Amino acid sequence: MPAAERLIYFDHAATTPVAPEVLEAMLPFFSERYGNPSSIHRLGRESARAIDQSRQGIAHLLNCQPNEIVFTSCGTEADNLALRGVALAQQARGRGQHLIVSAVEHKAVLQTAFDLRDRYGFTLTVLPVDGDGLLSLADFEAALRPDTVLISVMYANNEIGTIQPLAQIGALARSRGITFHTDAVQAGGLLPLDVEDLQVDLLALSAHKFYGPKGIGLLYVRRGTSLWSQVTGGSQETKHRAGTENVPYIVGMAAALTLTQMSRVTNNAHQAILRDRLINRVLREIPDVRVSGHRTQRLPNHASFLLGGLEIQGVLMGLDMAGIAASSGSACTSAAQEPSHVLTALGIDPIAAAGHLRLTLGHSTTDADIEAVADALTPLVGRLRQMSAGEQTGARL
Ligand code: PLP
Repeated sequence: MPAAERLIYFDHAATTPVAPEVLEAMLPFFSERYGNPSSIHRLGRESARAIDQSRQGIAHLLNCQPNEIVFTSCGTEADNLALRGVALAQQARGRGQHLIVSAVEHKAVLQTAFDLRDRYGFTLTVLPVDGDGLLSLADFEAALRPDTVLISVMYANNEIGTIQPLAQIGALARSRGITFHTDAVQAGGLLPLDVEDLQVDLLALSAHKFYGPKGIGLLYVRRGTSLWSQVTGGSQETKHRAGTENVPYIVGMAAALTLTQMSRVTNNAHQAILRDRLINRVLREIPDVRVSGHRTQRLPNHASFLLGGLEIQGVLMGLDMAGIAASSGSACTSAAQEPSHVLTALGIDPIAAAGHLRLTLGHSTTDADIEAVADALTPLVGRLRQMSAGEQTGARL
C-alpha cells in the first residue's frame, strides 16, 4: 500500500479500534444469544449470565463488589450520573450545597457541574491547576467546606495527559466524609484501577478508550453512596439506571478491560519508550516548541506539544495528507475559536493554545510509526511557518 494510503493512527485518546478478541466475544450476543436479560426463559437467562460474568470480571479488576458496578451508555453518562446522582441526593437530604471540581475536567463533568450550579442552586468551586495541569493539595484542602457534598477530579487529562494524585485527594475527602468521584475515562486501559488504592467513591469508564466498543461505559458506586438515578423506568442496574442492558457491549467492555489491564504493564513500558523517543525528536528538531502537561506524571501513550506561531488546523491537515491521524486534543484548532479550557487553566494564552498538537500512541504503534510522524512533522511545521511568515498569526512561545 502506498505510504499515503496506510493510516498511521496517533489519536488513541479520541478512540481506539475494537480489538479482534473483543469483537469475537461480542458477536454471539447480537443474533444468536439475543435474549433480554430480564426474560425468564433460557435465552434471557443466558444473557443475564453473560452480564453477571462481565460484571464480576470488571469488579475483580476494580477490586470492588459486582453490585457496585452500574453500566451506562458511555463515559459522559457515567459522569452525569455521578455528579447529578450524588449532588441531588445530598441536596434532598439537606446535607449541603457545595461542589468542587478541577478546572481541567472534561466537559462531561464541567458542564454538569455548571448545570447543577445554574439550575439547582449549588455553589461550585473550580480548582485551579499549575502550569503542568496538576492540582495543588493545599488548594484542594483550603477549598473544602463543611457543606461540601461532592468532589470530582479526573484521573488523567485527555488533552495534556497529566495524571492527578488521586489517592491523596481521596484520603483528604474521606477524612472529611465527602464523596469523591473520578472521571477515569482516559486511564481505563493504562493505569491501575483499584478503587481501594485510589480511595474513590465513584469512578467512570468508557470502553471505546480501551479497545472496546463505543456507546458503553460504567460507573463504580461504592456501597452506601447516596445516588439518585438519572434514567428512571425498570429496575435494571440495581435501580440506578433503567433500560434493557446492552448485552453485547457489556460483554465487549469486560473483555476489553481484561485484555488491556492484563497487558497494561508490558504495553505501557513499550509505549512510554516510543512516546519519549517521539517527544525527544520533536524537541530536538523543531524550533520554538514545548511539551504541554507534566513531563513525567503523564499517561504513557500521550505526547502533546505547543507549536509556536502556528494554528494547528494546517498541521493536522498536512499530517492527514501524509497518512497520519493526529489531533489538537480539543475542539479548538484556531486562535479565532474559543481556546481550550484546559490550556487556559494552564495559563497558556489563546494564540499559543491554537498551536496545540496531541499525538497519542496505542498497542499497534511501532518504532517506524514514530519515525514516520517525526519525519513528516518537522518539514511540515517549517513549511507552514514559512507560509505564514508574512502574515504571522501566532505569537512565538
Ligand atoms: N471524560 C474524558 C476524560 C474523556 O476523554 C471522554 C471522551 O473523550 C469522556 C469523559 C466522555 O466519554 P464518552 O465518549 O464515552 O462519552
